[in-house]
Amino acid sequence: MEALRQPLESGHVVVARSAGVMRMPARFLLLLAANPCPCGRHGQPGDGCACSPAVIRRYQARLSGPLLDRVDLRVRVGPVSRAELAGELGRAENTAVVAARVHEARERAGARYTGTPWTVNGAVPGYELRTRWPLAPGALREAERDMERGVLTARGLDRVLRVAWTVADLAGHDRPTRDDVAQALQLRTGVNRGVPQPMGRA
Ligand SMILES: [Zn+2]
Repeated sequence: MEALRQPLESGHVVVARSAGVMRMPARFLLLLAANPCPCGRHGQPGDGCACSPAVIRRYQARLSGPLLDRVDLRVRVGPVSRAELAGELGRAENTAVVAARVHEARERAGARYTGTPWTVNGAVPGYELRTRWPLAPGALREAERDMERGVLTARGLDRVLRVAWTVADLAGHDRPTRDDVAQALQLRTGVNRGVPQPMGRA
């Protein structure tokens, strides 16, 4: 998993063999899934987890900070209840509706990046994103505070910025508002602030 860090950043892998060195494209979407502890019940309703704190810490440490630092969206998923299985699934949003919304957001981003080498927020280098498309004044305040407190890295800030632009594109905003940035920060940490997190913070 640690070997994924470099291609996650650069979008390519370098393979060195006796015949030579090859640079191959490797732009991919990384989806990780993990249990909160070895038994999987830690922090769930009713809990029933018998794993010791040391075991839980060791288990969660298997995903390193530097790797988690490269994960943009963290979603805490609880067990599905019987009622949800029976009811909620039928009321879930139609995939076609979501696809149309994503298409619209991508069009908005594409229009913004006309005349640049990029078409989506995820591909824009942090420096370019920070300097060429400024946010509303004060929109980044909370993220900057997190940086000062040491809970957000410089790389993390760039990633929050990219997600904030996507949140703004989905919402139809010209540029990320303070709320869009707050949502990006929340998506990055996975849960509401102050709630113990199964995956810890990068
Ligand atoms: Zn457990």
